[in-house]
Amino acid sequence: MTVLVTGGAGYIGSHTVLALAEAGQEVVVIDNLSTGFSSALPAGVPLFIGDVADENLVEGVIAAHNVGSIIHFAGSVVVPESMRDPLAYYRNNTMTTRNLLNTAVKCNINRFIFSSTAAVYGNPERVPVAEDAPTRPLSPYGSSKLMTEIMLHDVATAHGMSYVVLRYFNVAGADPQARIGLSTAGATHLLKIAVEAATGQRAKIDVFGTDYPTPDGSCIRDFIHVSDLAQAHRAALSYLSNGGPSATLNCGYGRGYSVLETIEAVRRASGRNFATQYASRRPGDIMTMVADTSRIRATLDWTPQYDNLDTIAAHALAWEQKLLRERQPDDDRVASA
Ligand code: UDP
Repeated sequence: MTVLVTGGAGYIGSHTVLALAEAGQEVVVIDNLSTGFSSALPAGVPLFIGDVADENLVEGVIAAHNVGSIIHFAGSVVVPESMRDPLAYYRNNTMTTRNLLNTAVKCNINRFIFSSTAAVYGNPERVPVAEDAPTRPLSPYGSSKLMTEIMLHDVATAHGMSYVVLRYFNVAGADPQARIGLSTAGATHLLKIAVEAATGQRAKIDVFGTDYPTPDGSCIRDFIHVSDLAQAHRAALSYLSNGGPSATLNCGYGRGYSVLETIEAVRRASGRNFATQYASRRPGDIMTMVADTSRIRATLDWTPQYDNLDTIAAHALAWEQKLLRERQPDDDRVASA
């Protein structure tokens, strides 16, 4: 049966579609292309441009493509934006998923994989943070995802659905062959900003906070390579197809790197000693966020391939260089004429 991937033209969605297609899985995508790109999809994967809240559209796609499971990525993902416009987040994440689940129930879909986030934990009391830690999100983004997790749990219990909730830590890197990567403009994520600095698109990178009680004073994050995360989705789908019970799983490597160490990795990968500037703390930032990964490793048939910060930095950089070349073909022609 086919898997429906919502938001499949986005950053994590497109890497997952690629992983599924390469594993021989039939895939169909719905994406409104608000932040995704149709060019991110492998040839032959059908794309329906539209909203996953549109029950008629989703019902039609499920019927026409013999869909048996859904992987749901579509949504909004920028924490500061969610602070400015919470209702957009409750609409795009929570209400949209309510409609999608309603369609899934109507169509007897009984396997559902949901993109959640470490932001549901808020400021963890203990790190590494395990899945049963208290959930106290600090942003509407985190709240909108947690509300969706709760809704999914209730729907699954009432309607005999099995689900996997994947709580992503810091997703970074790009396809190792640089076929796809993070293309969305106006990125706020550390590694993306660092590779933009390394490729001369920014004069410098700000380090938000160097006075945290961590070894070098900057925040600590658990970066997971996007292709490993994509494989975690593929493994979650196999797990549910084999009758595995519903599960909520952290997605990280269980190891933290500081902001300064991360910037150093990009400097090493690029050979460019781009400038850093120490800046004040960014409101809402969590000091240390590292996953306890015992549950995902025990539950899924998943072995990370790129658990190395230098590799993540190198792949992110290679993709950024490719984007830059594609964006400036005319300039290049002028320069070489
Ligand atoms: N960060 C930074 N400079 C930047 C972007 C991010 O110092 O230009 C820091 C940010 O303050 C946080 C860490 O990098 O401590 C990770 O931030 P990001 O936005 O990548 O992910 P988050 O952990 O907030 O989801």
